[in-house]
Amino acid sequence: MHVAVVGGSLSGVATAYLLNKEGFSVDLFSHGTMKIPVGLCHPFTGREAKIIRDGYQAIEKAKEFITVSERALGRKVTLQNGIERRGWHAAGDFKDLLSLNNQSYLIKSGMTVYLSEYLEGMRRASKGVTFINQKIRSIDELESNYDRVILCVGAGLKYLINDFDQRYHLVKGQVLICHPPKGLTIDRSIIAKGHISPLRDGRVQIGSTYEHTYLTKDPDIDVCVRLLAPKVESYLPSLDQFKIDQVLAGFRVSDRKSRFPSIRRITEKTYAMTGFRSRGILYHGFFAYKMKEEICES
Ligand SMILES: Cc1cc2nc3c(=O)[nH]c(=O)nc-3n(C[C@H](O)[C@H](O)[C@H](O)COP(=O)(O)OP(=O)(O)OC[C@H]3O[C@@H](n4cnc5c(N)ncnc54)[C@H](O)[C@@H]3O)c2cc1C
Repeated sequence: MHVAVVGGSLSGVATAYLLNKEGFSVDLFSHGTMKIPVGLCHPFTGREAKIIRDGYQAIEKAKEFITVSERALGRKVTLQNGIERRGWHAAGDFKDLLSLNNQSYLIKSGMTVYLSEYLEGMRRASKGVTFINQKIRSIDELESNYDRVILCVGAGLKYLINDFDQRYHLVKGQVLICHPPKGLTIDRSIIAKGHISPLRDGRVQIGSTYEHTYLTKDPDIDVCVRLLAPKVESYLPSLDQFKIDQVLAGFRVSDRKSRFPSIRRITEKTYAMTGFRSRGILYHGFFAYKMKEEICES
């Protein structure tokens, strides 16, 4: 079977890799690059720590793909020294949580993922997949040439299907790339109201905004600083003390019907896999396996 996967980010590379491993001939159409340098991955949710739906299985799958990427690159694409969660209350006794002090926990399984490095490793690991740098403008052009088409295009789905706005919702997110003030060392990601994560070069990523309304899809420093400053001040030195280098923006896609990602058959040949919200790293591998099962059974 000849399969087209569209979208070369988290869900696309994992799906293409698995289908190719299963013996399918796979072309992956990708356009654009991952803008956000760092993403966090852990299986908890809520103000009172609870395990998110399928959280433990999902993190195992995420780790499996991270290992594939790291083997192909020959180096680490993650920090696996846990994630510190401040201002939290654990509703149960979880063996994955280490209590640090009052309302602060170490999520032991938590990972900080360097996203473009991870994606590069997955590309290298997917030797049998043909990568094509092309923006797809309609499903029709692919359906005539492929047996199955899998759309893993995130917010790009808006331009490929007719009922996007009825079915899905976009939330803009922005992060700041900054030099930390002297004396502040961040060696693992911290989540409080927002997060701070170490980059490879000594800078930090501070995020993220959740903007349900926005004037532009592009980075907007005024809005970003206004929304992040109060979050930062709750657990870090004031944002004024960081030297801001860059503001980066992207979109999270939510399925209006569910807080969980979804795989949807759009036409006889075409599927859309989306709705990863802010949990793309956690769920992308888990859903790539679901997608593979769906294609094998179809
Ligand atoms: C500010 C911010 C912070 C975030 N932080 C985290 C985090 O800490 N942890 C986490 O797990 N998630 C985080 N997320 C969410 C995460 O980025 C998404 O869940 C994840 O990227 C979804 O992956 P995806 O493969 O479905 O889509 P995307 O990553 O959106 O990728 C879609 C790809 O398809 C390409 N594409 C689109 N249209 C076309 C087309 N027509 N033809 C060809 N290619 C196309 C795009 O260029 C892109 O490369 C964050 C998001 C934002 C915006």
